[in-house]
Amino acid sequence: MNAQADDADVIVVGAGPAGSTTAYYLARAGLDVLLLEKSSFPRDKVCGDGLTPRAVRQLVRMGVDTSGPGWIRNRGLRIIGGGMRLHLPWPELASYPDYGLVRTRMDFDHLLAAHAEGAGVRLHERTSVVGPVIDERTGRVAGVHAKPVNERGRAEGGPVTYRAPLVVAADGVSSRLATAMDLHKRDDRPMGVAVRTYFKTPRHDDEWMESWLELWAANDRGGRDLLPGYGWIFGAGNGTSNVGLGIINTSKAFGQVDYKDLLRRWVAQMPEEWEFADENRVGDVRSAALPMAFNRQPHYRKGLLLVGDAGGMVNPFNGEGIDYAMEAASLAASVIADARSRVNADSRERVLQGYPAALKSEHGGYFTLGRIFVRLIGDPRIMKIATNHGLPRPWLMRFTLKLLANLTDHRDGDAYDRVINALTRLAPAA
Ligand SMILES: Cc1cc2nc3c(=O)[nH]c(=O)nc-3n(C[C@H](O)[C@H](O)[C@H](O)COP(=O)(O)OP(=O)(O)OC[C@H]3O[C@@H](n4cnc5c(N)ncnc54)[C@H](O)[C@@H]3O)c2cc1C
Repeated sequence: MNAQADDADVIVVGAGPAGSTTAYYLARAGLDVLLLEKSSFPRDKVCGDGLTPRAVRQLVRMGVDTSGPGWIRNRGLRIIGGGMRLHLPWPELASYPDYGLVRTRMDFDHLLAAHAEGAGVRLHERTSVVGPVIDERTGRVAGVHAKPVNERGRAEGGPVTYRAPLVVAADGVSSRLATAMDLHKRDDRPMGVAVRTYFKTPRHDDEWMESWLELWAANDRGGRDLLPGYGWIFGAGNGTSNVGLGIINTSKAFGQVDYKDLLRRWVAQMPEEWEFADENRVGDVRSAALPMAFNRQPHYRKGLLLVGDAGGMVNPFNGEGIDYAMEAASLAASVIADARSRVNADSRERVLQGYPAALKSEHGGYFTLGRIFVRLIGDPRIMKIATNHGLPRPWLMRFTLKLLANLTDHRDGDAYDRVINALTRLAPAA
């Protein structure tokens, strides 16, 4: 029999960016929030650690101080491809800051969780949620079953039940909770796989986030092969750079190649002075999935809201997931706070049902464009034309940067902003 643990107004499962941000906003709205996390901080998460100005805006809104040590600012993107290196500063906009940041997830997630605790959230680490508690009468989620675990994730003590009328699944791409509520991944949405590691390098304080559109590697016939995928080198400012590559399932190579070997071959051809040699590698080469364009829906069902990777919220244009997790978190928290202010159950349910619709209205059209984009770049011929004809035209690249990073002003924007906003509005928010 399960031990009965704390009850709360809302239980948030998973203390990544989605969970900690949701919990923070709920606590700020005066709710009693329990945040359950299976690991203990500080802990790593496979990621590129890059934050665009869109993500910086989320941090600013939460009152996270990013001026101190450990945060490294960047001015924009350095794009490498077609034999060119192009520097594209982040656009000057009213809606977003003109800088991005890099911070390792080892620090970033710890810091956000502590920020949520500072707002009154009760964080329980080493608490692995094994499934929802279902109210037999209503079929609604009424809490979660969990087990305490040790550093290695092994059960340590008996099962525990936590009860709350609403539960937020912020438990990442595999989302055990969503699956238990019959919310499965959609096959018609793009999915990426990315692999990354860290190198000690003099490039660690690069003030540009570097993006490689083509990955070349030496072959054993004395020539060069064009590898599938796209790469990045993000200076983490702590003596290391995060180096990685990703492939989307619209590419023929998806699932057919050894991603870690691709990374090894790509890195092997880099200039010696960057020092990306095996002896300078810090930590393992690790890979993980990127669920894109709302690949799990609906985002609300019977007392369970999905936020972040659990709801497949990665931007298909650029693989950015932290910002979209945090934006959805803020939206989910305000929907929950609104719902709680209603006295009757039907009215509460109507407000909660509005969460998926609000998410779609915010990002649905843009993600639809992103799905078209990843289908196009999945064809190497189209990618070659784009690299050879797009990169030499700086105006086109400035437009592309705004589109890929979703950085436009909605009022008083320039011509690029107006085109992107119009396309986003016209595309169906599926
Ligand atoms: C290689 C790679 C590079 C990337 N690069 C970038 C980048 O540069 N910038 C960017 O913005 N995005 C990037 N992303 C995407 C980004 O990492 C994710 O979109 C983001 O982490 C989503 O946050 P989340 O909180 O939804 O999920 P997660 O960060 O996965 O957090 C989920 C949390 O839930 C916990 N959890 C899981 N199951 C349970 C359970 N049963 N019980 C309790 N706790 C549980 C986990 O321990 C974890 O703490 C990258 C992804 C990959 C794979």
